[in-house]
Amino acid sequence: MQLAVVGTGYVGLVAGAGFADFGNDVACVDVSAAKIEMLKRGEVPIYEPGLDVLIAKNTRDGRLRFSTDVASAIRDAEIVFIAVGTPQADDGSADLSAVEAVGETIGKNLNNFKVIATKSTVPVGTADRLRQIIGANATQPFAVASNPEFLKEGDAVNDFMKPDRVIIGSDDPKAREILRHLYNPFVRASDRIQLMDARSAELTKYAANALLASRISFMNDLAVLAEKVGADIELVRKGVGADPRIGTKFLFAGPGFGGSCFPKDLSAILYTAGSVGHDLEIVRATERINARQKRLLASKVSAHFDGALKGKTIAVWGLAFKPQTDDIREAPALTLIDALLEAGATVQAHDPQAMPNVRAIYGNRILLSDGMYGAAEGADALVVVTEWHEYRRPDFHRLKRILSSPTLFDGRNIWEPDELRGMGFVYTGIGRK
Ligand code: NAD
Repeated sequence: MQLAVVGTGYVGLVAGAGFADFGNDVACVDVSAAKIEMLKRGEVPIYEPGLDVLIAKNTRDGRLRFSTDVASAIRDAEIVFIAVGTPQADDGSADLSAVEAVGETIGKNLNNFKVIATKSTVPVGTADRLRQIIGANATQPFAVASNPEFLKEGDAVNDFMKPDRVIIGSDDPKAREILRHLYNPFVRASDRIQLMDARSAELTKYAANALLASRISFMNDLAVLAEKVGADIELVRKGVGADPRIGTKFLFAGPGFGGSCFPKDLSAILYTAGSVGHDLEIVRATERINARQKRLLASKVSAHFDGALKGKTIAVWGLAFKPQTDDIREAPALTLIDALLEAGATVQAHDPQAMPNVRAIYGNRILLSDGMYGAAEGADALVVVTEWHEYRRPDFHRLKRILSSPTLFDGRNIWEPDELRGMGFVYTGIGRK
């Protein structure tokens, strides 16, 4: 099938390459000329495991191409996917200006019947809004569908190629059929394609993110209680997670969630609820607990030094909002770094992938080290914020030698407190004795 994917970010690029890999002819288009130039040169603007190989293969085989010519890509396509950003607007709602701009371009370039599918996370009612925008200019029939994306950064290629479920929300039977046909090879004719109306599909995406985020905030809140009552949140997590009704995932206490999705999506669903006179109390609490949790590591570090951080050097391991990505949007490490700098500390940091993005924000206000041990050299404390594999089993003997004081803050509970205390470290985790 002929596809256009508008927006070549984390979602559009993975989706475009994934669709091409199943034999479709895909044009990935973006307004960012710099991004498209990189892609044309064979460079991948983001770090996502496996994506470079997938893009190279499909570009070489002629099924995947990149362009800034959004209008031509739309005219050539049978299905147009909208995968542009929907960031948080000042009032907390989802900023739909990019989605609407694409809608206008589609309307003006509708030369035959097309299915327009939103992959971007968009509030309930956006399919209706798009139908109006496109319809205002269109001289040909078209159908709008909501096809929310559930991939996780860090494992996006796998998630896209082998989805748990594909949600197709449209009131138009022809659009449903065309999209089902496109996705059938991804699910091997299983029942993992769910057809529904557009509003339910739009809400499903927000419901999924809100539910996942609420599990994290629940455990983070409980971690505070665990510390106060002398329990260990890690043992509690294992205990509750063994119940199949609860499950083991998204139960990890930590430094609060970040990323480009949960924070803005919580805000957007609260806004949607507010606009119809409903208060989603659990989502509001999830947000509030997360804001508090993101400040927790900084307050633990500060408390350890009796509030005297001026002149102290703090090492930070892990800057991306989670491992296996270079994405630092809303990352808890940034909240920590801001607080440390504000308090007069010197920050030495390391991340396997995210350092260029961090450098773009902080310049030389923090020291970025090519090696993880280099970042720890001479520091008064080391804080691990993102659980990259290489931080899980570091050479603690070496760390003990190079830190100027053997003080560890384990923001992800990845280390063994007893073992480290036995080695003479001062260890602080989240929600642990
Ligand atoms: P991103 O910021 O990485 O990419 C968005 C891209 O859209 C950018 O390259 C930008 O230049 C381009 N763009 C903006 N306006 C445009 C326009 N008018 N025409 C063409 N291109 C335009 O964003 P992302 O992380 O890929 O997210 C995209 C959408 O998918 C968001 O709604 C997000 O909530 C949703 N989503 C993201 C993830 C994720 O893990 N990142 C997962 C599921 C859903």
